[in-house]
Amino acid sequence: MNTCQDLLSAITDPSGREILDPATGEVVGTVHESTTADLDDAVAAARAAQPDWAGLGHEKRSEYLHKAADAVEGNAEALAELLSREQGKPVKNGPNAAFEVGGCSAWLRASADFPLEPEVLVDDESGYAEMEYVPLGVVGAIGPWNWPMMITVWQVAASLRMGNTVVVKPSEYTPLSVLGLVHVLNQALPEDVLRVVPGGGEVGKALSTHSGVDKIMFTGSTRTGQAVMRSAADGLARLTLELGGNDAGVVLPDVDPRAIAGDLFWGAFINTGQTCAALKRLYVHEDVYDAVCEALVGVAQQMPMGNGLEEKNVLGPLQNKQQYDIVANLVEEAKRGGGRVLLGGDPETDQPGYFYPTTLVADLSDDNPLVAEEQFGPALPIVKYSDVEDAIRMANALDVGLGASVWSSDRDAAMDVARRLEAGTVWINKHGAVDPRIPFGGVKKSGFGLEFGVEGLKSVAASRVISR
Ligand code: NDP
Repeated sequence: MNTCQDLLSAITDPSGREILDPATGEVVGTVHESTTADLDDAVAAARAAQPDWAGLGHEKRSEYLHKAADAVEGNAEALAELLSREQGKPVKNGPNAAFEVGGCSAWLRASADFPLEPEVLVDDESGYAEMEYVPLGVVGAIGPWNWPMMITVWQVAASLRMGNTVVVKPSEYTPLSVLGLVHVLNQALPEDVLRVVPGGGEVGKALSTHSGVDKIMFTGSTRTGQAVMRSAADGLARLTLELGGNDAGVVLPDVDPRAIAGDLFWGAFINTGQTCAALKRLYVHEDVYDAVCEALVGVAQQMPMGNGLEEKNVLGPLQNKQQYDIVANLVEEAKRGGGRVLLGGDPETDQPGYFYPTTLVADLSDDNPLVAEEQFGPALPIVKYSDVEDAIRMANALDVGLGASVWSSDRDAAMDVARRLEAGTVWINKHGAVDPRIPFGGVKKSGFGLEFGVEGLKSVAASRVISR
């Protein structure tokens, strides 16, 4: 079992780039910056390892994934501490670092266990046809900084299960978390089945243009996703693009505001709002508007924010200065646009760390930038509506569609609204809950391709039809 310091000693390059703790500004570790030659080496090694890995078959590969999950569980405390220090999320309380590490082992095990038999398409007097799923080859996995370990596992576990080998390019903001995770996974996996190349956007670009890569799993912003799609064109690498979102929640007039306030809060503020499928704009019916605002303030006031290593905190800092500035500027625009700040909106600028206080802004119009743009931080805009048709229209008005939610005590009414929302997932009376058994992906400019479940396995495989 490793300590956090053991992990750092194993992955740190003393002459590399310093990675700073977003809560304190202290150095967490130093990271090697990969060159194109490092990337070529990693892709060549992964390509060389792929036939033997594929040749093991599903059962043996699944055993390896369970051993990798054992390794994660055996090093869970060290991984959670490393993640907290680099990413900022609190170690223990709420859906934070320990939860993310737990998600890694859960997704590894679930990906190992899904049954995937050939599908019989035709079996009658005219003939027989079946479709089976075979490895693609080498998968390039490019990830963001918000849930760096869990998103890496989402990309890697299904790919490995299907007999591909993987080269991971972590975000330049959170490379140590991914290096630490891969170090632990590789204690269980055969050599070169999983490689990691830390580096900046240029390494991501080189990976997505690389002739030795057959599929790119990308999670990040819509803009970078579009660049990845262009880069992948020449080699026709397959793509799964999980991109940004600006998820709407629609609160119907029949809710009990106090009963839903806790779930509304965590739907929006999980990981200090830095979550692709977090609730990012809330539409509340006028009959319950004041009561929902009041109940949300009541819950939010109880949620301590601070250094993730201090046990009392449930919310951490923003991960980087760029994201802090985006959130701060959007809240200022909301104030200028007539928003009523119910809570927060007044960051202390003389403290270390990228802490932006939990912020709720009411009475905004739908075109205010805090509503129309993805804030990716702890600032939730609340918009009042009187006709549910208007709420649906506003929810669907943007060009992204990752998640959405409907809040109601009437299941049929909620289902009616859910079926009209343009999103890859619509939750009822919750927001952002993901499950390894349930496929997840976006519509519109939130990307395409599914992760998780059997559909997720199929999306990292080639189909082969056998017909006779
Ligand atoms: P970015 O799109 O900036 O970066 C994502 C990854 O792409 C990083 O590893 C980045 O490297 C890399 N990259 C940058 N340029 C290129 C390029 N030209 N070609 C290939 N790769 C490149 O996203 P963020 O890390 O800033 O994450 C925040 C965004 O991601 C938010 O908009 C959020 O909504 C979205 N997101 C979506 C999720 C989903 O599941 N749909 C989940 C999480 C986040 P580097 O960091 O080194 O520049």
